[in-house]
Amino acid sequence: MKQYELDSRNEGIPLNKTAGRFYFEKFINNFSSNKDITKLLFNGTTDNKQSKEIFKRFVCIINLETNAYCNRHCHYCPLNIFERKNNINIDDKLFLKIINELESIQYSSTISLNLYNEPLSDTKIFERIKIIKTRLKNVFLRFNSNGDFLDIATLKKLESCGLDSINITLHTTKINTYNDTNSKEKIDKFYQKLKLDKPQYIITSNKNITSNIQFGTLNMIVNTTNWDLYGNDRGGGGE
Ligand code: SF4
Repeated sequence: MKQYELDSRNEGIPLNKTAGRFYFEKFINNFSSNKDITKLLFNGTTDNKQSKEIFKRFVCIINLETNAYCNRHCHYCPLNIFERKNNINIDDKLFLKIINELESIQYSSTISLNLYNEPLSDTKIFERIKIIKTRLKNVFLRFNSNGDFLDIATLKKLESCGLDSINITLHTTKINTYNDTNSKEKIDKFYQKLKLDKPQYIITSNKNITSNIQFGTLNMIVNTTNWDLYGNDRGGGGE
């Protein structure tokens, strides 16, 4: 369990900063003891101001796909069946409308720029990161990526634009099943490609390997997982 998740259980951490897996535990615990929550959620309001207040207090993460394309079709992902091969970008006006509305409530939780897309295939990704971090200064901005389009110049640019965290998942293919030796080599090669010193790996035998470096202000996690063993909760947006 990660520190962020452990901290999330702390009563002093508000709901909108709580990690997903503890969100509903905390929500239910607070629910019976906090009349304020009941009042806000169940007063049948159609009032715009109150709706914004509810959004601000209870939403801990927004998944914002800025394009609808992924170059892979992993066998455990819905994109294996429903391919997204047309690189359709979000309309600029719609993107700005979303940012304007989030700015109007001073949204300050997490935005993740992925769900079923590969964010680094968005040709405007740097511009969008800059806009988000300029307008929503306290937002924690992150995304998951398969790492295929990442090189050192791209990493530098992501950091300078203000991205806070990138989670690289090195996927296994159907015919190339998971094992610790191959997976470790795959992570080694990834760091070599970026000409970065490899950090210490955390290896959970036959389950996953994870590693983490701080690149300036950008945190980069690089991992591989044995999805054949775990299955994959792609409905939860994880990679
Ligand atoms: S798991 Fe990620 S990399 Fe693989 S097809 Fe789905 S979105 Fe693309």
